[in-house]
Amino acid sequence: MEKMEKIVSLCKRRGFIYPGSEIYGGLANTFDLGPLGVELANNIKASWWKTFVQNRDDIYGLDGGILMSPKIWDASGHTKGFIDVLVDCKKCKKRFRQDHAKDKCPDCGGELTNPRKFNPMFKTFIGPVEQDSSIVYLRPETAQAIFVNFKNIIDSFHPKLPFGIAQIGKAFRNEITLGNFIFRKLEFEQMEIEYFIKQENWKKHFENWKKEMEKWFLGLGINKKNIRWRNHKKDELSHYSKKTEDIEYRFPFGFKELYGLAYRYDYDLKQHSNASGKELKYQEVDNNKFFPHVIEPSFGLERTILAVLNEAYHEDGKRIVLKLKPSLAPIKVAIFPLLSNKPELVKQARKVYDLLKTRFVCAWDSRGNIGKRYFAQDEAGTPFCLVFDFDSLKDKSVTIRHRDTMKQERIKIDELKEYLNKKLNE
Ligand code: ATP
Repeated sequence: MEKMEKIVSLCKRRGFIYPGSEIYGGLANTFDLGPLGVELANNIKASWWKTFVQNRDDIYGLDGGILMSPKIWDASGHTKGFIDVLVDCKKCKKRFRQDHAKDKCPDCGGELTNPRKFNPMFKTFIGPVEQDSSIVYLRPETAQAIFVNFKNIIDSFHPKLPFGIAQIGKAFRNEITLGNFIFRKLEFEQMEIEYFIKQENWKKHFENWKKEMEKWFLGLGINKKNIRWRNHKKDELSHYSKKTEDIEYRFPFGFKELYGLAYRYDYDLKQHSNASGKELKYQEVDNNKFFPHVIEPSFGLERTILAVLNEAYHEDGKRIVLKLKPSLAPIKVAIFPLLSNKPELVKQARKVYDLLKTRFVCAWDSRGNIGKRYFAQDEAGTPFCLVFDFDSLKDKSVTIRHRDTMKQERIKIDELKEYLNKKLNE
């Protein structure tokens, strides 16, 4: 089996990621997060929010709407300028984005149809009547909610330049190419920052954000040799960007875009100022007013999850183990009574579980033999398993087994909380 298939299969088996609408035959490019997937996603988002919002005093959080006035998308240029060009292969009938296909079918080498333009924004309607005046779009990026709240943040917090506004949220795109698991979805989550700066400093901030993006991503347990930066050529730049560089990650299907870093100059604030009639300038103490320029680091949650799973996936003989960084692991500690048919053992083990579960995400498992229980937790990426055995009744200690080394040690129940706290934050 290819590595990608193995990851997909583990994700389904262990409850990380399920195909969307599966019992109805599925819906292409949609997926649902299972119980472990939700925890992993939340841990990644929490790490991002902590690093880029809570640990800094120059970045403000925001959670804007998915549905916004359609005027926003006219002003931002998305209704006219956000265009994918698609081509079909005349031979194998597969459909591709032109920028992915170039002159021949990438799959079979067949001849391609003439390019057709289309706008990947999803449309829906407000009110009971479907007419042009009631059209709204599901946002194709989170960034615009930030620009339209620029003035609100200035009025509430009076920040000094440079400062940023950050948001995590869903974005929607009517993607036409299929495959590669959660790499390309119809609805996905973005983690974006619009960082407002003075024009003359853009190069410095651009370089600095490259470092910040890389540092956070590598901190998730990613090997540096699996990333590289790629500069967009002039003809592939988005309608709003003067310079874009992507971090590419070596996915099992090759190096592909992970995140983008764009210099949006003052395009968006100017456009919204003109279209709304509200002045979205920044005013300095000496009354000098101007449109700040913008550097935009844009992170995709699903591509992060896929990269993290790819790095963590290890096979060691028959053992499959997800060597997730403990802070990202969905379950931190699993607690097992040695035998499930000894009531006193189960009762006392359950007490250890109750003691820990208010502090750490814990799992309880009393089924089957211990080996099988370890196997399941290794696949879930759980860093620690605790076994409560007959000796535990006397010495008030449990055996702790480390996921990566499989080493076991004895530890006093009284000292567990402190021990785990330390290990999980390493
Ligand atoms: P691609 O060329 O792969 O379609 P893009 O250049 O259109 O990506 P951006 O508009 O730069 O993507 O969006 C910023 C980030 O959002 C991407 O780097 C990626 O992490 C994420 N992203 C974009 N589209 C999708 C999608 N369909 N599914 C999952 N994540 C996505």
